[in-house]
Amino acid sequence: ATPTAIMVGTGLGAKRGVLFKNAAALETAARIDTVIMDKTGTLTKGEPEVTDVIEVGIPRLELLALVAAVERESEHPLAAAVVSYAEGQGAEKLDASEFRNVPGHGAGATVSGRRVLVGNRKLMATENVDISTVLDQREQLASTGRTAVLVSVDGKAAGVIALADAARDTAQAAIAALHEAGIEVAMLTGDNEATAQRIGALLGIDTVIAEVLPQDKSAKVAELQAAGKKVAMVGDGVNDAPALAQADLGIAIGAGTDVAIETADVVLMRSDPLDVAIALRIGKGTVRKVR
Ligand code: ADP
Ligand code: MG
Repeated sequence: ATPTAIMVGTGLGAKRGVLFKNAAALETAARIDTVIMDKTGTLTKGEPEVTDVIEVGIPRLELLALVAAVERESEHPLAAAVVSYAEGQGAEKLDASEFRNVPGHGAGATVSGRRVLVGNRKLMATENVDISTVLDQREQLASTGRTAVLVSVDGKAAGVIALADAARDTAQAAIAALHEAGIEVAMLTGDNEATAQRIGALLGIDTVIAEVLPQDKSAKVAELQAAGKKVAMVGDGVNDAPALAQADLGIAIGAGTDVAIETADVVLMRSDPLDVAIALRIGKGTVRKVR
């Protein structure tokens, strides 16, 4: 691209709050054929809310008090939602000790002398918790697109907490705009398969890649690159930074974490997924001008 075309492209982007960090980012944007979107905080608002609580063999408020004590120690977005729900329901505030965070799986702590775990199936499997009594309910909740989190107390399944995180208003339109431009769209998430498939279907995503551990996200990007794709990764979280760096073009959501914004080549200041298609279109316009 000519220096003039780059100035024009950068200016067009800036007007829409699409910040290209350098000229190379504009030129790469022109060649992208595959976009990978992070789910939580990118396609969704990243503000989960508790919708259902199923308790098994324990009073509901006691379950909420135990879980909230663990989640108060966690920095996960799901944790904050569980704590505020439990407090809103009037659950007692208990102290937690021996807190342990397991990235991509969940967390655990000792509360009132009891060992409490909260997280996904993988966490329960590694801790040898039998979840057969709550599995049907978990599957049913997940099939509606909600994130269903399992709870165990002293090694026994004690409940399921479902959380919903609404899609951003323009998420579906953003996927449609990319399809119109001939671009393939994948969604990458640590959330469970059933939840991810449901949201992927609602939004029109081509490929859903679920249950990916935080540290494995960049390897998924590399796999697509090895298959010959020119990949843009769109993300917001600390977890997404290595994948943003690995991608041919890293695109950060403006409302995202500092590390995602610093790592990316492009920043969407309005946090609107529709701006992904606009960024790629500006790139194409810039490069076309020299031919
Ligand atoms: P995402 O990529 O969607 O942000 P993560 O990799 O952070 O997801 O977590 C994956 C899954 O692990 C979550 O969907 C949830 O089931 C479980 N999990 C992780 N941390 C917690 C927590 N503090 N409380 C409950 N569940 C958790
Ligand atoms: Mg995210």
